[in-house]
Amino acid sequence: RREEQRASLHEVMELAATFFQSRLQAREGAAARGYLADRGLTPAIQAEFGIGYSPNEKFALRDHLAGKGVDRDAMIEAGLLIHGEDIQVPYDRFRDRIMFPIHDVRGKVIAFGGRAMDKEASAKYLNSPETSLFHKGACLYNHHRARKAAHEKGGVIAVEGYVDVIMMSVAGFGHTVAPLGTALTEDQLNLLWRMSEEPVLCFDGDKAGRRAAYRAVDVALPQIGPGKTLKFALLPGGQDPDELVRSSGATAVSEVLQGALPLSDILWERETQSGDFSTPERRAALERKLMDALAPIRDETVRRHYRADMDNRLRSF
Ligand code: ATP
Ligand code: MN
Ligand code: MN
Ligand code: MN
Repeated sequence: RREEQRASLHEVMELAATFFQSRLQAREGAAARGYLADRGLTPAIQAEFGIGYSPNEKFALRDHLAGKGVDRDAMIEAGLLIHGEDIQVPYDRFRDRIMFPIHDVRGKVIAFGGRAMDKEASAKYLNSPETSLFHKGACLYNHHRARKAAHEKGGVIAVEGYVDVIMMSVAGFGHTVAPLGTALTEDQLNLLWRMSEEPVLCFDGDKAGRRAAYRAVDVALPQIGPGKTLKFALLPGGQDPDELVRSSGATAVSEVLQGALPLSDILWERETQSGDFSTPERRAALERKLMDALAPIRDETVRRHYRADMDNRLRSF
């Protein structure tokens, strides 16, 4: 019964994806097509990634799906309608947004990310809610395509956003995925480690991206080992991967990836980038903080080597 339900929810999601794609090609999709063109997302790229458009109407998808025989409960189960106690009539969750389908590892649509086109919108991105198909902390955008590419390329790259993934793919880095509007979770990290011993995190070169990288350090540390770690590629000038591809091309991306730093460098940077370490007491506090950060490393040998590494840095600091 559950399997049946999931299969039919998958069908509902496929119907929705097809609907959004057809609306992008319709008259009402003209502004969306213009927006995509401005961002360098050509019709070929739109087709490859199944990009669509949700009309600026309250019942467009609901009525379309009803016409296909989908019942209201299934639409709600699929996270496609807004509903709730003080909502009399459930209506379309996604309206007037660019729609990015999110697939599971087998390539089935399980959710959507919707981007508003105008800068004033209250939320730039609106994603599907958690459903029986979609557990956002346990999924990666582009996982099904990147898994194949990761084999060929011998590595995997994680970026922040959908458009980053797409532009990286266009630039020849098809082995790229993104978390789904969350900080990188332990589950997502484990998915990355199934694809590569040394995934490269390539987050935005702004403060938020740097913070996300610092957080990923703590998520990773308990599990690192010989042949199981992370690297961090730092983007210049506050750019994100999409902007870097657009401004400087694939060669620049390659250079940034080549220059990726090991986890130990990022940990050191995180703890020393600000603060006053001019007295023995403050340096002792720094040492304690570093050693506390290393304590969760479960692999004893790796933990010992990290301690030695940080000791060395402290000595010449
Ligand atoms: P774009 O290039 O379309 O402006 P971006 O990916 O560069 O998008 P960022 O502001 O850098 O956007 O945010 C990184 C990621 O965080 C987004 O791709 C999206 O997945 C998620 N995100 C950003 N804003 C929101 C939001 N309001 N709600 C949910 N997720 C969001
Ligand atoms: Mn950002
Ligand atoms: Mn960004
Ligand atoms: Mn961006």
